Amino acid sequence: MLFIRRGGPVCPPVKRETLIIMKNYKKILDKIMPYKPGKPIEEVQREFALKRVIKLASNENPLGPSSLVLEAIAKAAKNITRYPDGGCFNLRRALSDKLSVSGDNIIFGNGSDEIIVSALRAFVQPGDEVIIANPTFLVYKIASLVESACVKEIPQNNYRYDLKAMLKAITEKTKVVFIANPDNPTGSYVTDEELKSFIESAGEHVLIVLDEAYYEFAKGGDYPETLDLIKREDRDILITRTFSKAYGLAGLRLGYGLARGDIIEVLNKVREPFNVNSLAQAAAQAALDDDDEYLKASVELVLKEKEQFYKTFESLGVEYFKSRANFILVNTKRDSAKIFTYLLKRGIIVRDMTAWGLKGFIRVNIGLPEENKMFFKAFAEAINGE
Ligand code: PMP
Repeated sequence: MLFIRRGGPVCPPVKRETLIIMKNYKKILDKIMPYKPGKPIEEVQREFALKRVIKLASNENPLGPSSLVLEAIAKAAKNITRYPDGGCFNLRRALSDKLSVSGDNIIFGNGSDEIIVSALRAFVQPGDEVIIANPTFLVYKIASLVESACVKEIPQNNYRYDLKAMLKAITEKTKVVFIANPDNPTGSYVTDEELKSFIESAGEHVLIVLDEAYYEFAKGGDYPETLDLIKREDRDILITRTFSKAYGLAGLRLGYGLARGDIIEVLNKVREPFNVNSLAQAAAQAALDDDDEYLKASVELVLKEKEQFYKTFESLGVEYFKSRANFILVNTKRDSAKIFTYLLKRGIIVRDMTAWGLKGFIRVNIGLPEENKMFFKAFAEAINGE
């Protein structure tokens, strides 16, 4: 018999003893703390009855989307009754032209997060080893544990990747090594020379994931240009990048992976159908058309404003770490949860780094000049204990 209520049929009540499915979930999940993102602006507005709240917590682009992107989304919105192009044909062609990389070497994802998760899904079996740094981007560990991997966390050395120690940690059971370059949350980067020597010694049996989510902010100088690496036959290398940061499209979720064709083929087997929505595809295509000016403005803003952050931290006598990305890690040497709450009550969202094992640290990203000034003032008050 169907149980009918307003809104249509519902399932009959289930007896408690029939809920056996909850006895069967993967026990490895008990070890996982769900990823906790930066607080959304609306939540803080509600919680503290604030009109204006600024968010400097998720390394987003404060410039907002370009008008060309908004037009492309409005146009594409007319077609949302249709499934998106599962193969991202037009976007693939645009990115392939931009990077001078064949379309067969590209995979798109629902954020670069999805590429990271897919790589682990495709390459890691229970008990295999995954090597990551500590601290680093939390998704590597979470997604590796979901695959029942043994995660080896190699402490950073003075807030920089210790590639020699990571190399030593590689065994025959190692399947994947993650290098976030630059790293989140430290903002430090691995140089061209360091990366090359790591890759030479790493061996043929590991997939090296080069996570370049902040590539556009980091490039130049001795920061490595890695696209040629995917041509190597003797090393398995996957580069991940994103439209979430410098391109300002975090809300649409679009990232991509670059690798040799055979690696992309394997990743495509675990990719969900229609994983990239049609608005994201249209927006990213427009963003690529528009990228010279927009990217220049985004990168210039970050470079210029970052200096103001450094000066402020120096004048307050707090420890900070020079960053190659659009965020900065700060050791407040105080109770960071308290500082986080103090700022929150004044409508400024930053990230308390306690969950990353960094007690006393916060991470703040570069906002608009006016937002940054608000942060400097409130942060100085918090540090001086007002
Ligand atoms: N890698 C790193 C190092 C990041 O910091 C982030 C976002 N915080 C990502 C990957 C994922 O970004 P997205 O899924 O938005 O592309």
